[in-house]
Amino acid sequence: KLYNQVQDLKGNIRVYCRVRPFLPGQSSSMSTVGHIDDGNIMIITPSKYGKGHKSFSFNKVFGPFATQEEVFSDTQPLIRSVLDGYNVCIFAYGQTGAGKTYTMSGPNELTEESFGVNYRALNDLFHISKQRKDTFCYEIAVQMIEIYNEQVRDLLTNDGPQKRLDIHNSSQKGLAVPNANLVPVTSTTEVIELMNIGQKNRAVSATAMNDRSSRSHSCLTIHVQGRELASGAVLRGCMHLVDLAGSERVNKSEAKGDRLKEAQHINKSLSALGDVISALAQKSSHIPYRNSKLTQLLQDSLGGQAKTLMFVHISPEADAISETLSTLKFAERVA
Ligand code: ADP
Ligand code: MG
Repeated sequence: KLYNQVQDLKGNIRVYCRVRPFLPGQSSSMSTVGHIDDGNIMIITPSKYGKGHKSFSFNKVFGPFATQEEVFSDTQPLIRSVLDGYNVCIFAYGQTGAGKTYTMSGPNELTEESFGVNYRALNDLFHISKQRKDTFCYEIAVQMIEIYNEQVRDLLTNDGPQKRLDIHNSSQKGLAVPNANLVPVTSTTEVIELMNIGQKNRAVSATAMNDRSSRSHSCLTIHVQGRELASGAVLRGCMHLVDLAGSERVNKSEAKGDRLKEAQHINKSLSALGDVISALAQKSSHIPYRNSKLTQLLQDSLGGQAKTLMFVHISPEADAISETLSTLKFAERVA
């Protein structure tokens, strides 16, 4: 039933907002997050921003106590549709430290409860494909790439992600990046090993705000091919799980030189993504895919029959208010 709801929504685009809890040691008396109900969130703004309240509406708002399981259960119908041959994109957007990687992968120390969307998604795919084994034969394979300074690199390689890869327009066998390693997977254990390699290869550099901060977009792509045993018909679906680079504006991290260049690339590609999604939501006749590597990469999975889910993340701290407001404004534009 949820599946039909997803289809009914305008242009198959959904936006969920997730609020990170205060971290150990932070004082929770200064939260900028007021009342939350199913799809609405109220932000308490300090005087500098016109003291008062601002409300924002999304398809769903997850408060600071929402569990990984709760967050995933609203995502599940999308996962199933990949096995039916649909393309899906799931994004994590937000400033560094707001919880993007937590939602997509989980915390550094993973436990079964803290698994993020990507592990749960693959688990589900394995599970459902087994349930369907009398009617379908499924093959599941993953690629993991990053986009750093508008260059595409393979994260699933042991030689380090030096080689630059090309994005192909008319996708070969449904692969937008045919030269990135494509690794068949059959179990969650294999997936966890692969993601560890991917994480190591990810370009990480310290910023003033968070030393785990990542200045690249990382994209885990799950390719599913299903052959119907009776007819021999083959269907293909793919799912992109994208942990976007931090959306914070440049001066916040006191960027110079390389940092400034990174920040400009990030800015440009996040605006390009926002432009594409909002053009799709408005059913515009021109969708500006060509403006960034990110939107080129995802072209086949954004728009048309494809389904899109954007998780926007915010931090509850008072000193994050300006980024919180700009994140929510970005999200409202695409919602
Ligand atoms: P980002 O990827 O957006 O930079 P992270 O996912 O690394 O942010 O989150 C920053 C910190 O907050 C990490 O220590 C992470 O484990 C923690 N964190 C984020 N979201 C949650 C959450 N929902 N519950 C508990 N801890 C969280
Ligand atoms: Mg992160």
